[in-house]
Amino acid sequence: MPSAQDADAARASRRDDAVRAAVEQGLLTADQPVVALLDVTGIRASAAALHTAFAAVTAPGTPVLHAFAVKATPLVPVLRLLREQGVGAEVASPGELALAAAAGIPPERTVLDSPAKTPAELREALARGVAVNADSRQELDRIDALVRAAASASPVGIRVNPQVGGGSIGALSTATATSKFGVALRDEGARAWIVRAYADRPWLTRLHVHSGSQGMPLPLMAQGVAETYTLAEEINRHVGRRQVDTVDIGGGLPVDFGSDATSPTYARYARLLAETAPGLFDGRYGLVTEFGRSLLAKHGTVLARVEYTKSAGGRAVAVTHAGVQVATRTVYAPGSWPLRIAAYDAKGRPKQGPDVVQDVAGPACFAGDLLAEARSLPLLEQGDHVAALDTGAYYFAHHYAYNSLARPGVYGFAPAGDTTRFAVVRKPQTLPEIVTESGGPHTDSLTTL
Ligand SMILES: *Cc1c(COP(=O)(O)O)cnc(C)c1O
Repeated sequence: MPSAQDADAARASRRDDAVRAAVEQGLLTADQPVVALLDVTGIRASAAALHTAFAAVTAPGTPVLHAFAVKATPLVPVLRLLREQGVGAEVASPGELALAAAAGIPPERTVLDSPAKTPAELREALARGVAVNADSRQELDRIDALVRAAASASPVGIRVNPQVGGGSIGALSTATATSKFGVALRDEGARAWIVRAYADRPWLTRLHVHSGSQGMPLPLMAQGVAETYTLAEEINRHVGRRQVDTVDIGGGLPVDFGSDATSPTYARYARLLAETAPGLFDGRYGLVTEFGRSLLAKHGTVLARVEYTKSAGGRAVAVTHAGVQVATRTVYAPGSWPLRIAAYDAKGRPKQGPDVVQDVAGPACFAGDLLAEARSLPLLEQGDHVAALDTGAYYFAHHYAYNSLARPGVYGFAPAGDTTRFAVVRKPQTLPEIVTESGGPHTDSLTTL
């Protein structure tokens, strides 16, 4: 097996090859000045690493479902690729459930979480046999009524908030004392209520926790899982049987956006979990995981042409076609979401030359639309290309329609002999589509009201 460093270096070199091939093969043109690329080889390798990491710490025969958090990269061909790698889906809206179904992910490999499920959503999930995690007491009441009305094959659990604390990004910390998610476990009376809820409902067989995403320290995530395991033990002791048979440990493994390193690895996190909550891995419990960012982020690249360059107040500025529409979090919260930028020349070869401090700007009409501010890079010139790295999750698949900028095309790539082959994942949005989605079919609706 190649070392982790070798694998990371190989990924970087596939990316360079793909950039050059995208330019040579005309994926990027004057009319399509921004595209998104997905490394199919890398996605397969990450899925394999996830399976291997948990297989190494679980007792033989332990059922483990790795359910990809669809919100990270809601693209049907990606979900299908993951399905082929033995990965299911975690969905949190009717749209995400529809994407998972379109990718052919079976209901028994699909998990529905979300804090705002409607009665219709719950009914449909229970009718299909999709696993459901109740987020609140009121939601459990609704599920009660549905379960009474019709038998369901769906495993059902309750999401708990272990209230272990937050990470460095508040907006992504779901285990704070006042988080909107789950049943707050440390609130007065909550533990007793949960134990009673399971005792009253023999069909409640799962517990769910997801303590947060990027920015969460691993020990805190592991503590959240350990406290959920302890609760499962308490419930099972109370009811006198193994009623809770599966713990869903959520996702949230952070990604290193500062280098090509895959760090932390699934192997490290799985070992930490097994050390923190050994009983969870001894074969008495099935496991569900819900990783998103860590499966896809490092395999995505936004590639854009440099349309113009200029100098302002002594600062070199490259105006590109990648900005807030494909990197929304980075543009609005650059402190929390810095992205690496790679410079390529007009032919798509890595750009050489001494580093110059410069701004890499996007196309949108507001001053803050910067992919990177005061970044040291070889001086960009008109016609060059810039790549925003590690953007495979929560970036280009999460288009932000500012300035009616078109959704870029997304292409998967894989090495093929001396070259790189591409496959369409999502076509670029066309101008007629923008007009239609912007009320075009209702042009006169206001003037005739
Ligand atoms: C967002 C989310 C995930 C995935 O988080 P990542 O940081 O992308 O791994 C998993 N489970 C739930 C409930 C989520 O809300």
